[in-house]
Amino acid sequence: MNYYSLNDPSTKVSFKEATIRGQAPDKGLYFPEQIPTLPEQLIRDIDNISPEELAEKIISPYVGNTIPETDLRRIVAETINFPFPLVQVTDSISSLELFHGPTLAFKDVGARFMSRCLGYFVKDKNQPVTVLVATSGDTGGAVASGFYDVEGIDVVILYPSGKVSSVQELQLTTLGKNITALEVSGSFDDCQRMVKAAFADPDLNRALFLTSANSINVARWLPQQFYYFFAYQQWADKEHPPVISVPSGNFGNICAGLLAHRSGLPVKHFIAACNANDVVPAYLQTGAYTTKPAVPTLSNAMDVGDPSNFVRILEIFNHEFTSLKKVLTSYSISDDETKATIRNVHDRYRYLPDPHGAVGFLALERYLQKHPGDKGIFLETAHPVKFYDAVEAETGEKIPLPDSVSHLLGKEKQSIRIVPEFSNLKEYLINS
Ligand SMILES: *Cc1c(COP(=O)(O)O)cnc(C)c1O
Repeated sequence: MNYYSLNDPSTKVSFKEATIRGQAPDKGLYFPEQIPTLPEQLIRDIDNISPEELAEKIISPYVGNTIPETDLRRIVAETINFPFPLVQVTDSISSLELFHGPTLAFKDVGARFMSRCLGYFVKDKNQPVTVLVATSGDTGGAVASGFYDVEGIDVVILYPSGKVSSVQELQLTTLGKNITALEVSGSFDDCQRMVKAAFADPDLNRALFLTSANSINVARWLPQQFYYFFAYQQWADKEHPPVISVPSGNFGNICAGLLAHRSGLPVKHFIAACNANDVVPAYLQTGAYTTKPAVPTLSNAMDVGDPSNFVRILEIFNHEFTSLKKVLTSYSISDDETKATIRNVHDRYRYLPDPHGAVGFLALERYLQKHPGDKGIFLETAHPVKFYDAVEAETGEKIPLPDSVSHLLGKEKQSIRIVPEFSNLKEYLINS
């Protein structure tokens, strides 16, 4: 399977090259040349196959011959070595919990898969690869945990001092080994500017093999299809497939779901659940796609004003607005509605959603009111404890700490403080 750049369909690269590069040199996103059709037998017999085997069958056409079967099997097994339970919340709504991974958010799957593929691809290089990434919070933890102890790869994470939550900071700074956290006395934008300058610097690129672990990387995007297959595997009424509601920001996760559906996975309908950042809901209403600066909300991992992956969704639908509208509905949910939903779901159904999951729940409920008889699933993309201040304010109850968090609390933060200047980052990278 080859991948082309959405800016220029004539440039083709392998899965290996697309993973190492992240983005095409013309700045386009990579897209698979064909979307595979899964055997009907696989869908019919989905109850009788293990999650590992299922995941391997889904991803293997995309990886092609760039990773041998036995290595791919190991990579997939390590990627999904935690549960993805489907939990019934109301008569018609279930939650697919994607927060049982090491950093308590769904990004763990993409980060774990990408780190292991990259580790495989650089195995025979005699020079280590340096993954450089700027984070505003969630991505850094998933990348740090995903790449921890992967041989041949050093990870350097830049984060804005004092601007990430305490849990997020501990997830970034307590691992050690091949993970280094640079604590920048500046903003997230400063961190991002310094990382960009590093990728463009000739001295650094001579001295080091630099790459990024950006969320548009195909090796982070494609394994997110697994969630939708795991949802269907656990769905009792196979004759009536679920409506699936996906809390969306950069639209990578839902784009993977639409890809899975195009490959043959039965899904009744998709809902893109957005917060106040409503570029896509407005587009589906009016047909006009207008990007805007992001506005801050309670579900901050979805505060995106120009979703990078939406262009991949358009490509799946051949840029046909009417066929897209048949499969996808989108709602914008306000912060007040998000808070009321956290309270309501907790008080009425004894289930505790995080702010992102609450957006997904309410969008689904809204759709089901118009389509009585349908049933659905919302993806619960983060553990509520990651946003405990917002959630506890609504319920008035303390959220018990999961083991992965309480275990972090006793650990010592290790970070290197730098000022927000590129020369400082360069000096660190050259001398380390
Ligand atoms: C990243 C993230 C999202 C948004 O996912 P996209 O693929 O960017 O649409 C939703 N919820 C949580 C908790 C996230 O961390």
